[in-house]
Amino acid sequence: MVKPICRLGNPVLREEAKLVPLDFIKTDDFNQLIADLYDSMKHYGGIGIAAPQIGVSLQVALIQLEGVNRYDELIDLPLTTFINPQVEILGTETQSFWEGCLSVPGLRGLVERPNHVRVKYVDKKGEEKFLEAKGFLATVLQHELDHLFGVLYVDRIKDTKNLSYQEEYESFIVNKES
Ligand code: ZN
Repeated sequence: MVKPICRLGNPVLREEAKLVPLDFIKTDDFNQLIADLYDSMKHYGGIGIAAPQIGVSLQVALIQLEGVNRYDELIDLPLTTFINPQVEILGTETQSFWEGCLSVPGLRGLVERPNHVRVKYVDKKGEEKFLEAKGFLATVLQHELDHLFGVLYVDRIKDTKNLSYQEEYESFIVNKES
């Protein structure tokens, strides 16, 4: 079921979400939460969503990036459920992308982040998994998983001159980059 999205200012977005008890995974209530996250992500047009964004303070996030072409880089991550994730930063290189967020509608901001990460997580079958990512996918992972620790992308904008409304971003910024 599509749920309303909690927006910037809602304290649930600032809490550290609770770890999912492993015996809660695969229950009907847990599967319903995943279905609600999926329906909401699709309805609002996101490429990822975290449980706090629908008001549930649990460490669960979904990402789906199938055949997405961003900055001439083809990214392919089938629908993946990240439960109780831990992000490890690999290397010292960083990258900057213009990010947006369902919880901060209408805005874009340029965020510098590490460009190579490895995520340890539990999948929706309860199995431990690892995912290593570089480039845009590494940024998407860090953005979504930040939501589980009360962090929003706007917190990571170093220079607020690099914060823009979507329309102004399209008019003045995106076309100049290409
Ligand atoms: Zn977000």
